[in-house]
Amino acid sequence: MKMPSKKIVEVRVGVLTGIASNLPLNVRSKDLPLNNQVALVTGAGRGIGRAIALQMAQLGAHTVLCGRAKKALEKTAAAIQNAASEPEPTKLPAKSSVIECDVTDLGSVESAARQVERTLQRLDILVNNAGIGSDTGPLLELDPANWDEVFNTNLRGVYYCIRSFAPLMVRARSGHIINISSLAGKNALPNGAAYAASKWGLNGLTYSVAEELRAHNIRVSVICPGSVNTEFSPHTGKNAEKMLQASDVAHAVAMIVTQAPQSFASEILLRPTQKP
Ligand code: NDP
Repeated sequence: MKMPSKKIVEVRVGVLTGIASNLPLNVRSKDLPLNNQVALVTGAGRGIGRAIALQMAQLGAHTVLCGRAKKALEKTAAAIQNAASEPEPTKLPAKSSVIECDVTDLGSVESAARQVERTLQRLDILVNNAGIGSDTGPLLELDPANWDEVFNTNLRGVYYCIRSFAPLMVRARSGHIINISSLAGKNALPNGAAYAASKWGLNGLTYSVAEELRAHNIRVSVICPGSVNTEFSPHTGKNAEKMLQASDVAHAVAMIVTQAPQSFASEILLRPTQKP
């Protein structure tokens, strides 16, 4: 059996313990687990997407930052750059690109895919993170326009991204697609039915396309976190410190993309250790 080199094992330990910032002092970019890989994260300008993007860059990937607000994406790019310019010997590669992209617009997503193909020629990891919540309240009072907005972002947007980016992976016979769903896609969510339905739909999409793409050596996984401490929704009455943090979701993504080639963690449910 071929064992991974010692240095890669060290890096993986850093990732798996959630302390990727404590990478071994002597690590060089070529030793990083995602060296030479390209990762694209939607909704990378804030919250969970930002944390995932930083984590992917820290593991050595060239990270493509997508979202609608260019300024927010540029701030994530600057954070990646700053992390990389720490004094030697911890210097890590600073590789990221910003692409403005609205996942609800097929033309915008297809244009982003063409840009990735033209400039980077490959895509190894696609993280479908962009998502919005629905208006809070009973379904009978929900504005149909809000229903459309939620489904167009959380479900149609993921379909558009898979449709546009997966061909690059099929061609390479390799890749990871990771969809950020929610425990609301596993449970009932009274007063959030549209959001829950979009995430139940996303889970169904994930399981089905995972089977379709398995033959192409592409692993399609879903992560379902409970409430995460971001700007996504008010967390009234919750202890923010006990809540899941964006970095916890990033850690789960890191685990998925650093698995051995024969292993496929298809679904991760993420809960806080103690109820916040
Ligand atoms: P935030 O609201 O902090 O961030 C959402 C991100 O999605 C933003 O970067 C936003 O960027 C982007 N986005 C929204 N609409 C679009 C669009 N049409 N096209 C491109 N990007 C878009 O939310 P979180 O970081 O908390 O959530 C990220 C994901 O995690 C979502 O899918 C959410 O459903 C899921 N999740 C969140 C939980 C939580 O409690 N926070 C719990 C479980 C799951 P911009 O506006 O610039 O386009």
